[in-house]
Amino acid sequence: MNMRPIYLDCHATTPMDKRVLEAMMPFFTDYFGNASSVAHVYGWEAEAGIKKAREIIAGAINAGENEIIFTSGATEADNLAIKGVAEAYFDRGKHIITVATEHKAVIEPCEYLMDLGFEVSFLPVNESGLLDLNLLQETIREDTILVSVMAANNEIGVLQPLGDIGQICHDRGVIFHTDAAQAVGKIPLDVQSMNIDLMSLTAHKIYGPKGVGALYIRRRHPRVKIASQIQGGGQEQKIRSGTLCTPNIVGFGKAVELAIALRETENETQKQLRDYLWQEISQLEGITLNGDLEKRLPGNLNISVENVDGAALLLALQRTVAVSSGSACTSESTKPSHVLMALGRSKSLAQASLRFGIGRFNTETEIKQVAQATIDAIGALRKSGIRTKT
Ligand SMILES: *Cc1c(COP(=O)(O)O)cnc(C)c1O
Repeated sequence: MNMRPIYLDCHATTPMDKRVLEAMMPFFTDYFGNASSVAHVYGWEAEAGIKKAREIIAGAINAGENEIIFTSGATEADNLAIKGVAEAYFDRGKHIITVATEHKAVIEPCEYLMDLGFEVSFLPVNESGLLDLNLLQETIREDTILVSVMAANNEIGVLQPLGDIGQICHDRGVIFHTDAAQAVGKIPLDVQSMNIDLMSLTAHKIYGPKGVGALYIRRRHPRVKIASQIQGGGQEQKIRSGTLCTPNIVGFGKAVELAIALRETENETQKQLRDYLWQEISQLEGITLNGDLEKRLPGNLNISVENVDGAALLLALQRTVAVSSGSACTSESTKPSHVLMALGRSKSLAQASLRFGIGRFNTETEIKQVAQATIDAIGALRKSGIRTKT
């Protein structure tokens, strides 16, 4: 195999941990039963695997087992949360509040609902990517049914103050949803103390398999209603029908278990590597950090580079390091990242950006190589005069 570039795109996805794969394997072959088959042992075995995963995942966010609904990932969980609340509560109001820097899996369902007659307020953020809590307070109205604010941003790693937002929503009687795809296993999450009513999760950002995630739905104080978006066999308390993918769910549970167990050491290591990378690259002129440096995921670094063409920079780095510019989901188009634009970056600075996502398996040697390669590439491009068209 050819030498592949160093993988530093852990906000797009992560390699699966071998321990996760090991936990999953028996559920493909030996324990292949349908968890809905209540009449025989094949069904019971699958159900037992799922139950264990459900316990782990619920425990990780201080939820009850019956509050976890498995989905195909965070995109589906976001859609289920937003459309499910809109459909269940439209007679109470048609106003939804979210933030300009959300993932497309939140923004697009909101825009879809706008076409159906809902009103959505997309709150701006400050230059560091943080939400203004006073503005949130002022934006909540009589007819507001839902506030959706992500826990950790997938591009700039910024952490929103979930506890404060939850308190505000709780006081005003508004349902609070958070997309925690990037946050679970990395920062402490507690649906009780943070007053979170709905939380989207996914496995593949934390070294689990792709194609599985969950929506946490609060069942008590208050009981949150969600209109199902997929009907059929009535699985997952009739909220999300479809035969459960046992191996994926077992892997999701294992991934969460490992993430929680390794969290402290892993965060410390990743922060050190990230800080080193930033320290090295920021010695160049014309480098801007995108997002707050403190309230941030430890493994995330996002920079904008002046006087360099964004596409040329990615191309120059492509053989050494796998990173992305803007979000992975929009990197095929030349549209500048909506997140960086929301921070007030110019179009050219938003385009000439790099997102580094450091993960569990990255080493110090790799980060040193990446720092050098990035510095060299920026220097060479600036010297060659391939600049951003302004
Ligand atoms: C990755 C991601 C998603 C989408 O999750 P999938 O499981 O890939 O559907 C949604 N929101 C955020 C913040 C993400 O990082």
